[in-house]
Amino acid sequence: MPELPEVETVRRSLHDAMAGRRVAAVEILDTRVRRRPTALALDVLAGRVVTRVRRRGKWLLADTDGAIVWIMHLRMSGQVRLGDSPAASPHLRAIAYLDGGTVVSYLDQRRFGEWFVLAAGEAGAFEARIGPDADTITAAQLRRALAGRTGALKAALCNQTIVGGVGNIYSDEALWRAGLRWDRPAGSLDAAETRRLAAALRTVLRRAIAAGGTSARDKLYLRADGEPGWFAVELEVYQREGEPCSRCATPIARQRFGASATRYCPTCQR
Ligand SMILES: [Zn+2]
Repeated sequence: MPELPEVETVRRSLHDAMAGRRVAAVEILDTRVRRRPTALALDVLAGRVVTRVRRRGKWLLADTDGAIVWIMHLRMSGQVRLGDSPAASPHLRAIAYLDGGTVVSYLDQRRFGEWFVLAAGEAGAFEARIGPDADTITAAQLRRALAGRTGALKAALCNQTIVGGVGNIYSDEALWRAGLRWDRPAGSLDAAETRRLAAALRTVLRRAIAAGGTSARDKLYLRADGEPGWFAVELEVYQREGEPCSRCATPIARQRFGASATRYCPTCQR
């Protein structure tokens, strides 16, 4: 599932392709992409100029010259392709045609992704519910976000209202780097541990952005040019259970975590 580095990689391609361009038309092939009840019809985008494409957490937000914001979420398997014609794919769900000939195709195998439009005021309220972005989070922001929380640290990191952009891959990686166990109560970190975790989040996410994100074996995430991201080669614990920890050589452990799993070093994460 795309997390902050994957979404940021897509954002950069979308911004380069869309900023300053007028939307000629939007075609929805699968109406599930705009399932939000408060969303405006996507038709309101026609004729608008995209001024920039931003990211908050795992959300992509395209500001326009009208007072409306085009919002996208890739969820499990959403992919964006840029070209001069719609992508040839059985998973094509939506298409945006831009003046100048660029075509933005939205593909989604699992069909959980979203494309919708909100009025600017409503978009502001929507963004205010997303926690601070993990690639720029400070120790003070992280301390405030985790204060008083008794649930597992990994669950807090993956909760988008607490910290923006982190999921299963990068929570495992940041916790390993910070030397912290996933099941510590989130509010139990001392000042030094909080600083370590904030620094680990920033480092892991920025390195992953530089690598174009992580494409797993299922290839459900690919960059907008259809190529994979290469951060998988730098992963220390995610999907490395049984392999020796690169810090202490203890085999990496795996435990159930909700519907998924968590990976960690039982020796050097405390
Ligand atoms: Zn270790």
